[in-house]
Order: sequence, then C-alpha cells, then structure tokens
Amino acid sequence: MSTSLAYKPKNIWETADAKTRKAMEVLAQRYVNFLTHCKTERETVAYVREQLIKHGYSEDFTKDCVVRPLRGKALFAARRGSLPLTQGLALVTAHADSPRLDFKQRPLIEQASVAQAKTHYYGGIRKYQWLARPLALHGVVVRDNGQTLPITIGEDPKEPVFCIADLLPHLAQQQVKQPVNEAFDAEKLNIILAHGFSKKAKGGRGDEHKDPIKTQLLDLLYRKYGIAEEDFITAELQAVPAGPAHFVGFDASLVGGYGQDDRICIFTALEALLEAEGPGRSIAVMFWDKEEIGSDGATGASSRFLQYCVEDLVSAWSPDVNPSHVLFETCALSADVNGALDPDYQDVHEKQNAAQLGYGPVFCKFTGSRGKYGASEADAEFFAALRGLLNAKGIAWQAAELGKVDHGGGGTVALFLAAYGMRVIDLGPAILSMHSPFELASIADVYATKQAYKAFFEAQL
Ligand code: MN
Ligand code: MN
Repeated sequence: MSTSLAYKPKNIWETADAKTRKAMEVLAQRYVNFLTHCKTERETVAYVREQLIKHGYSEDFTKDCVVRPLRGKALFAARRGSLPLTQGLALVTAHADSPRLDFKQRPLIEQASVAQAKTHYYGGIRKYQWLARPLALHGVVVRDNGQTLPITIGEDPKEPVFCIADLLPHLAQQQVKQPVNEAFDAEKLNIILAHGFSKKAKGGRGDEHKDPIKTQLLDLLYRKYGIAEEDFITAELQAVPAGPAHFVGFDASLVGGYGQDDRICIFTALEALLEAEGPGRSIAVMFWDKEEIGSDGATGASSRFLQYCVEDLVSAWSPDVNPSHVLFETCALSADVNGALDPDYQDVHEKQNAAQLGYGPVFCKFTGSRGKYGASEADAEFFAALRGLLNAKGIAWQAAELGKVDHGGGGTVALFLAAYGMRVIDLGPAILSMHSPFELASIADVYATKQAYKAFFEAQL
C-alpha cells in the first residue's frame, strides 16, 4: 500500500542495506580500474572485446554469443535468447569517445625555448580546463608500410607527462575581462613536448641551428620509437588527462575520472550483458564512436554498421526472418549520461526536472533543444513499461531533462535508433562536471545503472 499518492524520487543511500553497499563498492573498484585503463575509444573497444572473448564470445556469427569490432573504434555484440528474432533485440547502446585534444596533422613547432604540439580539440570542451594540468598521450602511429605503433606515454608514474602552460595572473589583466569564449584561443592549446637540446642532435636536414629543440626531439622520437615527423601526419594522437581515476570524498562514495561520459554506460552495459540470466529476447550492445562530434563517420551512430551487424546476425541465426523487421521490433536503451544538479550552479537547472546524484539512472524522455527540436521522444507506453520493470525489481530511477527550457540542451544517439522504428529511450547515470577532465559519478548510480540494464536484458517487455 502506498503511503502517499505524491511522487518522490528515491535516494539510494536511504535504503541500501549493508550487502548492497558492499556490492556497490566492489563494482566501483572495478569501474575505477576500467576508467584508469580505457581513455580512448580504441582502448575501450579493445577492453570490451577482450572481456567478451574471455567470456566465450566469438567473431563467428553462427555462434550464440558474438562480437564484431569496427576499425577498433566501435563494437557490436549479441547473445542469443530463447525467443525468436522476430521479437526483435533488447539493445543497449553507448559511446566510447570522449572530449579531448587531438594532435594536428603537422603538430610540431618550436618557440620560446620549448617544442610544442599544436592541437585541434575534439568534442565540447571548456578550453581553460585543459591548461596547467598533466596530460598523457594515447593513440596510434601508423607508418607508411602499414605498421601500427600503439602509444601510451604519461600514465606510468615513471614516465614524463605533457602540459599546456597557462597565463600567469600577473599578466592576465586583459584576459580576465574577456568573455570566456574569447579569452581562451583554440590555437593556443599547444602542448609542451620538450625543452632541452644539445649540439649533437642530428635531425637530418641541417636545421638544428634554427630549431635545436625540435631537432633534438625528432632525434629522440626516432631513436626511441622509430618515428619521423611525416609519421605524425597519419597518426591519431590524443592528449587526455594523465593519471588514474580515483574515489572521491571522505566516504569514497563518488568516482572521479576522465571520460565517464559515456564510458560509465559502456562499463555498466558490458557488466549487465555478461551477468544477464536466461534472456528471452536476444540481447545486444552497440558501442559507438564519434558521438561527441555529431555521430557522423563510419564508426558513428549515423552509419549503417548496426544494421549490417543485425543483417548478418539474422542470416546466421534465422535466415527466413526479415532483418528490417528485427530492427523494427527491437527495444533499445540509448545509454548516455545526464547532467547532475550542480550544487553551486543550481540556477541553470529546473530543479524539479533535474537529475541528482544518488537517485539511480536517469530516464530522459526526449533530448534536443528549444521546442524539443532535434529530439527523439520515447512513447509513453515504452517508458511506462520500463518504469514498471524497474519498480518491480526495486531499482532506483529518476526522470529528468538537461537544464532549463531554452537554456541549452543536447542530443544523444537515440534518434539514429528511432529511425529504424525501434522503441528507444535514454537511460544513464547523472554526472557532475560533465565533459571536464575529472567528471564525478556516484558509486550508488554505477551500481543501480548496471542493475537497470541487467533487468532490461532479462525482461520480457
Ligand atoms: Mn554522452
Ligand atoms: Mn558528451
């Protein structure tokens, strides 16, 4: 019997028993390790693939548990359920890319006693957050003979890190009067790579007198990694915040780290896929790249990759079924994060419809901006079925939209799934400091989100 007809979201901390708290801590510790080691879409996809292979998944689509990575940056995986494919899939999608600084194709410059790398930022960053902090380099250098050299420098405490210098306050008197969008120039996001030189540096072109630091850096890069300057042109090098993810707070109830948008959903969806028991519908995950820059490109959600995977799955599992019918009947969760109510900027939220840390994953019925432009809006029937499912399982959830009406907005991949006629809604945890180099999530929400995805996979919706 309900004690009140009024609705109030449930704070997980109020009701979590000792056993649940322990389970939250155990999962969070694994999550911290995952965040520490997966800082790019390539590293994330490699981790997911490795976990799935370890659990018996195969790239052979005639098997019951299958996985298919795309160019190391996106990944589809599915597990056969007891129901026929005509019932569609239970699909959870998330994105593996996060905002960062990419090296330009010709990055190397020398000026004012330092060699630097010029960068081009990727996704929505607040530029000042990337200044005066340790950065690590992650990525690949592909030589013209096709040889690929994976790069990770700046994560091991024994390795050096990299850094963009910030202006000293003494000389920032003009800058501090500028609007933030003008004060920080993208062309000044140059990463310091080296400073020293000696007369012995070769460089090969006799330009050691003009650019001795760059010349010596090229010398070092060639000796250590076999890289020449031309190799940067075809490389994919990303500067990301250096160092591990951490527990945050005296009670270690939060996780702080880079790239939680949206790797928190990749981690929880993968855990749910592996844990789900006796699925009725066949279950699947699709992890995308390029979400942060609009989902275009071969590895982004607007590509045909998901469709091709489902077509191949259908031809292997049930060749008599029409793949477009499977896509149409599929139920999907667009697993992406929501902005948590910021304790210090509460005025940008409409509090009654804002997400809060510790209240479980957030349903976002529609995204978009202004009068719901660009939104994929979930229908009431699907949303209600999911609400019923989580209520029946005692899993906390909340509903929110991102910020006040007409004060911004944002999008997710939901609309690309909706284009197939799927029933789809956004469901993911709330994050503080979203898109910053150190995003915060509640360990209660990590756990509840995993439970929610697992319940979705096991449900007969
Ligand atoms: Mn996201
Ligand atoms: Mn984002």
